[in-house]
Amino acid sequence: MADKPEQAVREIRINPIVPTESVLIATARNMRPRQQEAPAPRDTRHHVDRCPFCLGNEDQTPPEIMRLPATGEWAIRIVENLFPVLGDDSSQSKLTFGLQQAMDGYGRHEVIIDHSQHGIAIHEMSADHLAQLFGATQTRIGQLYDMDERLKFVLMFKNFGPDAGASMAHTHSQIIALPVVPQNLQDEVNNSHQYYEKHAQCIFCTLIDEALTFETTIYDRESGKIVRRINVGQYVVERGERFIAIKPFASRYEWEVHILPLQHQSDYQAADAADLADLARVMKRTMSRLDAVIGGAQYNYFLHSRPRGKSYDNCQASYHWHLEICPRTSIPSGFELGSGLFVNTISPEAAAEQLRAVKLPPE
Ligand SMILES: [Zn+2]
Ligand SMILES: [Zn+2]
Ligand SMILES: [Zn+2]
Repeated sequence: MADKPEQAVREIRINPIVPTESVLIATARNMRPRQQEAPAPRDTRHHVDRCPFCLGNEDQTPPEIMRLPATGEWAIRIVENLFPVLGDDSSQSKLTFGLQQAMDGYGRHEVIIDHSQHGIAIHEMSADHLAQLFGATQTRIGQLYDMDERLKFVLMFKNFGPDAGASMAHTHSQIIALPVVPQNLQDEVNNSHQYYEKHAQCIFCTLIDEALTFETTIYDRESGKIVRRINVGQYVVERGERFIAIKPFASRYEWEVHILPLQHQSDYQAADAADLADLARVMKRTMSRLDAVIGGAQYNYFLHSRPRGKSYDNCQASYHWHLEICPRTSIPSGFELGSGLFVNTISPEAAAEQLRAVKLPPE
């Protein structure tokens, strides 16, 4: 296993799935001033009288789309967004010309009230509740795709804590249904498809296989001497029966973790109840680890799944859906904005080791 002491890492790592996205891993101290002094405190109250998302204030939210359970006290609600970034296609200006191209800002923007309790964090929710939450998300995404075939991609994301851009303190996620496929997802789709055409294998499955290979020894072909011993299993953070949480080799953020189904699935909509139950368990354990290590983690997470439309039908074997969790522990610097290169000051191997080392209470 890894036996050498942790030494300063300074290397540019290429994201294996999106090679144009590289990360500078620089653990030297001088890269650290960009760390935030202290995270802005998050709201941990159970109930807030004037919060429109709290129990009893249901009449203060925009129209309700879904409620679980349907009767009695609700656990999860989906409502329209009061300030949608996308809406119906009635109010579009057509004032572009020449190189200035624009597309209608058509789409849907909805809010998932993740829990009736105001300031509860994901790792504090029960696994059963999380499974319900993932199920409600899946149902709603399916409804949106069925509703309008112009919608190409439905993004579910969560901003948790003021440092992660959450404007409402009450725990919630958002769903944005887009008429276009965002470029970062398109890059993943294209590159994984190219990899598939070359290797007849899903690149995400290959990365999972690598993560599950605990030790690789490379021998010299002639002398038989050990050239290098690589501990590949070092990227596993959490493993369930059906899901795995991995610290990406080229992590953009210090504590970034991705969760993927172990069995190949291109579309989140294909996950069944048993899948969602295991996803919930792996999610809860992963978030508990992150919270224990970072302390009051503030984060964004988002769901990447195969987009809709004819041109994506042939990506069923090559694309693999996943959740990307990106805790916010630092602010991008001018170097990052100017170079487009993410800077990560903690080596992903060391971060994964710390996360694995957390002792979780028995379930
Ligand atoms: Zn609230
Ligand atoms: Zn796969
Ligand atoms: Zn992704």
